[in-house]
Amino acid sequence: MSSAPYQVHGSVAVITLDNPPVNGLGLALRRGIVAGIDKAESDAQVKAVVIIGSDRAFSGGADVREFGTPLAGREPTLLSVIAAVERCSKPVVAAISGVCLGGGLELALGCHFRIARADAQLGLPEVKLGLLPGAGGTQRLPRAIGVEAALNMIVSGASVPAKSFAGTPLLDEVTDGELLPAALALAEKIAAEARPLKRLRDVKLKALDSEAFLQFARNMVGGASKGFPAPMKCLEAVAAATTKPFDEGMKVERELFIALMQTPESRALRHVFAAERAASKIPDVPADTPVRTIKKVGVIGAGTMGGGIAMNFLNAGIPVVILEMKPEALERGVATIRKNYENSLKKGKLTQDKLDARMGLLTPTLQYGDLKDVDLVIEAVYEEIGVKEQVFKTLDEVCKSGAILASNTSTLDLNKIASFTKRPQDVVGLHFFSPANVMRLLEVVRGAATAKDVMATSMQLAKTIKKVAVVSGVCDGFIGNRMIARYGQAANDLITEGASPQQVDRALEQFGMAMGPFRMGDLAGLDIGWAIRKRRAQENPATAAPIVADRICEAGRFGQKTGAGWYRYEAGKRDALVDPAVEQIIEQFRTDQGITPRAITAEEIVERCIYALVNEGARILQEGIAARASDIDLVYLNGYGFPLKRGGPMLYADSVGLPNVARALTRIAAQPGADAAFWTPAPLLARLADEGKSFN
Ligand code: NAD
Repeated sequence: MSSAPYQVHGSVAVITLDNPPVNGLGLALRRGIVAGIDKAESDAQVKAVVIIGSDRAFSGGADVREFGTPLAGREPTLLSVIAAVERCSKPVVAAISGVCLGGGLELALGCHFRIARADAQLGLPEVKLGLLPGAGGTQRLPRAIGVEAALNMIVSGASVPAKSFAGTPLLDEVTDGELLPAALALAEKIAAEARPLKRLRDVKLKALDSEAFLQFARNMVGGASKGFPAPMKCLEAVAAATTKPFDEGMKVERELFIALMQTPESRALRHVFAAERAASKIPDVPADTPVRTIKKVGVIGAGTMGGGIAMNFLNAGIPVVILEMKPEALERGVATIRKNYENSLKKGKLTQDKLDARMGLLTPTLQYGDLKDVDLVIEAVYEEIGVKEQVFKTLDEVCKSGAILASNTSTLDLNKIASFTKRPQDVVGLHFFSPANVMRLLEVVRGAATAKDVMATSMQLAKTIKKVAVVSGVCDGFIGNRMIARYGQAANDLITEGASPQQVDRALEQFGMAMGPFRMGDLAGLDIGWAIRKRRAQENPATAAPIVADRICEAGRFGQKTGAGWYRYEAGKRDALVDPAVEQIIEQFRTDQGITPRAITAEEIVERCIYALVNEGARILQEGIAARASDIDLVYLNGYGFPLKRGGPMLYADSVGLPNVARALTRIAAQPGADAAFWTPAPLLARLADEGKSFN
């Protein structure tokens, strides 16, 4: 079956783009368009051609299913398709509805005339993948809407509703009515009037006043680029459209496109794009698994996490019942939610109406009976197994059959929590990150008994509340916290051996981490990790070793909230100030351990801390806790401030080359005093390195 059926209506040939869901320009569709144009050329009855998509999409651009396959580059390429359309001797009209993005818009720009529904969305989002439009977009769009408007669209990647282009050469007509009849009428009229074909390539662009242009562009691109090369290259390509003949401008665009394709930044952005698509699929849970309806949610605990979790659902228009033990705690929790919304109101991000509506969806309660009709309940009480036991036993008694019982636990055994109920199949971990109303990451923790439809429902729900969901198996810390513990351990060891907290933070911040581990610890509160270490030491005394972080906590320094942690803080300020008291604690610790401090370079700091993440990531992958390396990358990018331009720890390791990572780990493992079991390359990493393979 053709992906581009061809039909003749009177004197107009209609080529319909038909590659659901969004008419991605895959090989079959590209072939179909060229075949349609050839047919129209040779049919004497045909006086004009209409290219139309579906209501949902003219075309969303390249077919993502072809990414990274040989099909993507096979002829006819999009450039050849557009050339065939543009060269057609009969008028070709693009009829645009739904999304018209990337290559889809470039195809439309190659047509001689364009008509669009007012609500169609037009854009060139390539910059979001670290690229630029590579099929003439940077040359034709400025010729259609002017340099400034085109630059804005190309550098931001944002899409714009078609009605904004009414009256520009981009759109000959904008319609609110049915698209096909309007397009046929336009095509017939053009043919009847024998209008000359309008090829954007023939439009002469005025060269711009270079000084003013550069100033404007520098400001705009400077704001948008955030250290990524693509926005500047977009600017160069558009500049070429103003100074060079069309075909030479096309050459510049092609060269810049190919250069960007090779950059690590584009590789990282394309990786993340694919990773987000992959993460929503669970290998043994088919896409058509029925989901449970979630119309009302319960939250247990209105503390730091419970409040933020509740806000996610209120924001999505889902009613929430929030339960606490004591009236004071309940009042405090509800007041914090209100205050968060009032802050958004003050910043102009929320209207009073919306604030009222959201608060109106919230029912505070002290009675478990009020949870009898919720479809999902998320527990966010103290991180103590005894408290969780009591809560889940009660939920098992009060919640209706089929309700999903979720825990936000960070470290406790989800299977054990499930065993407190008579319905372990309905129990799942929904691990939010703090602040839960802001952070995009959600770890969906799959227990041994968790039902497939509970997993499917959780993944769908994550989309509803705009989270990036990653599935994790059950282990201490799940994916993110299990890895960060290793990273923290590596950072602590560096301090013991001779580095200062500020030196470690600076090195990792220069690598691109949003915040170094010690500043981050001070922000999150050092007591949490201390409590976890104490619990682990109790459970597993053999592995407990003294670490300098314990000494910091023993001194009552829990971070920003106590005015002191790894740094000191002045009242009401968040600036981390170097504290001689910390230097003393560290020196004393080294003396007690019999360690002579040595000089440590920034390079060693990055290597040790990041490879500690990578090695634990490899173990997590090998154990099947994470289904794919890219899932681990998403966890680190969305939950831990890992630099986007590096694509996550696992992609970073791939880009360094796994044999190099393995060799460095082996070298660290052999250092005197090193924890060899921790640093020896994980078997999966060693095997992939040997086989010349990568994680992704
Ligand atoms: P918190 O101390 O701020 O809040 C816990 C709340 O639960 C308190 O308001 C308390 O009154 C209430 N509570 C305790 N027992 C209860 C019971 N039996 N019934 C009803 N309410 C009860 O703690 P938090 O930081 O919000 O953490 C809650 C959970 O979320 C923990 O399991 C924690 O591990 C997890 N978590 C925390 C973070 C974080 O960064 N704080 C991140 C992810 C997950």
